[in-house]
Amino acid sequence: MQLTRSVHIVASGDAGFSLTNAFDCTAYLVDGGGECALIDAGMGVEPEQILRGIRTAGFSPERVTRILLTHGHGDHAGGAAALSQACGAQVYAMEPAADFVSRGDIAALSLEKAIAAGVYEPGYTFRPCPVLPIADGQRIPVGCLTLTAVSSPGHSAGHCCYCLEEDGRRILFAGDVIQCGGRIALQAIWDCDLQQYMHTLYRLAELHPDALLPGHGCVALQRGWLHLDKARAVLDTLALPKNSIGE
Ligand SMILES: [Zn+2]
Repeated sequence: MQLTRSVHIVASGDAGFSLTNAFDCTAYLVDGGGECALIDAGMGVEPEQILRGIRTAGFSPERVTRILLTHGHGDHAGGAAALSQACGAQVYAMEPAADFVSRGDIAALSLEKAIAAGVYEPGYTFRPCPVLPIADGQRIPVGCLTLTAVSSPGHSAGHCCYCLEEDGRRILFAGDVIQCGGRIALQAIWDCDLQQYMHTLYRLAELHPDALLPGHGCVALQRGWLHLDKARAVLDTLALPKNSIGE
């Protein structure tokens, strides 16, 4: 599903566009010409569906050289092992998420809590894979394009958003920080941190993105900043933006 000149949706579960496994996050392919990058990797339950999504978008999986994870939660990072193998791609994430995913630390990734809560299917297993750490502000080349890593903790430790400048427009891959409508994702897990979350929301609002591409739900191809401004306006009243968790 092509969104912009260089961005396609290649995976999305039932909290999005129901293209692939029901529990997958929305995963985006960034086409840099010769090379492509995948933003997030889905659950890893039916990775062949994501490979099919890549082919349907018009790309051979071998063109995907990098898989950039927004964070370590299963619905975003569980597919990294299978997809990196199938594509021959290197996986990247911000610390400490990079460490959690490479060790398959299910406690740090809150996997058992998530399965018990019905967020993932019973019996779900997480396949670890080697992950290279990236730093805040790091520029990641993807063919003729460049993605910039934006540290954005709060939803979970080591959460990272990615910014792409395309045709003078700023596209923000927001992971689980914010959804359309200004909704956030606060969870009762050890590394969800309200202070950091607030700081992240203010920081992302300052980026004033034209397009907002979240890990779940709808996408905003224009006026992406509206959703961040909405969340910021609620924080300014000392309240918390509406929570998408448990809806
Ligand atoms: Zn998450």
